Amino acid sequence: MEPKYEFEKKYREQILRCSRCGFCQAVCPVFGATLRPALNARGKMLLLKEVMDRKIELNDELIETLFQCTTCANCFKNCPSGVEVAEIIKQVRKDMVNIGSCHPAFKGMNEVLKKHTNIYAEEEPADFEREKNLQAELVYFIGCVGAYREDEATMATLELLDRLGVDYTLVDEVCCSGVLEDVGYRINEDLAQENMDVIMRTGAGTVITGCPYCFRTFNNKPQYAELKEKGIDVVHIAQFLQGFDFGVKTDKRVTYHDPCDLGRHCGIYEEPRNTIRKIAPDFVEMPDNRENALCCGAGGGVRGAYAKNSIAMARRRLQQAEEVGAEVILTECNSCTHNLANAKLRKQKFNIYNTTQFINELMEAAE
Ligand code: SF4
Ligand code: SF4
Repeated sequence: MEPKYEFEKKYREQILRCSRCGFCQAVCPVFGATLRPALNARGKMLLLKEVMDRKIELNDELIETLFQCTTCANCFKNCPSGVEVAEIIKQVRKDMVNIGSCHPAFKGMNEVLKKHTNIYAEEEPADFEREKNLQAELVYFIGCVGAYREDEATMATLELLDRLGVDYTLVDEVCCSGVLEDVGYRINEDLAQENMDVIMRTGAGTVITGCPYCFRTFNNKPQYAELKEKGIDVVHIAQFLQGFDFGVKTDKRVTYHDPCDLGRHCGIYEEPRNTIRKIAPDFVEMPDNRENALCCGAGGGVRGAYAKNSIAMARRRLQQAEEVGAEVILTECNSCTHNLANAKLRKQKFNIYNTTQFINELMEAAE
């Protein structure tokens, strides 16, 4: 049968390789929150096989299933057949957009980004009281969630960089637009160029990102290749901070939530832990950690399109923190911080911070 959609051309063999073993079910956060087998990786692969066999049409009726995936890649890590479910889902969403079928929450998102240059379609980011676009060794690139939703955490990160004497500048940044690929669109090349231009004008040799998704996008997407060509490194703040000695400690029991974008997608597991162990002698792991970490439920557009399920996924993660008696949950992603903080358990005994925010508070209290 002639392939009709791009996903068939790229992933037909992988979809057929799914043996229906079901190993993915136990680790899928969407299944964990909904208990609906149709929504786990196996259910999605079966559905796509039916589309390839022309038994069903790719149309609006499949939105519910195909847009309920956080692209966390936990299924892939546990799949004996090596089926790259998250990549397949992203390609299918592109095919859907091409035939005019997209989740209503994201319809026209590419146009929104063109006009407003941030995912929230807001006019101005928070005021971080710092001059931008200076000449500096480093650029701190905030990202949309940090600039428009988790501005307190971002302010604390900037204060920490100041306390550590780091020579950085903020820039007039726009959305990296990586997130467009999660919901069926392509990265906006004009936005990518705008970001690269403001970064290059500062003369900086390194960009530190606060957001794991910006980090992924800058490092892996061809639209940002010019950064590498010009010798500009892009690191996540978790990598940058592990070389510092903060001179402060907490006696609280601390645990760490691995963001999918930093952990499973980029392999950064030890750097944040190296930093946390320095400041928190009573560091404990949650039952699912590193490669097996449970997703917070925010990614892949799920928070925007299926908020209730997204919060249910975050609660499952918070329950793991409760199980190990954590008083503090640290993470390295504004999106995870945001979703976990919104989920709140009944009688919750812990607080949730970005690692930078927590260290900054400890240093401030010690001054
Ligand atoms: S673990 Fe892989 S092969 Fe097994 S059902 Fe899930 S996607 Fe298919
Ligand atoms: S990528 Fe994550 S949310 Fe999507 S099907 Fe796999 S385990 Fe489930």
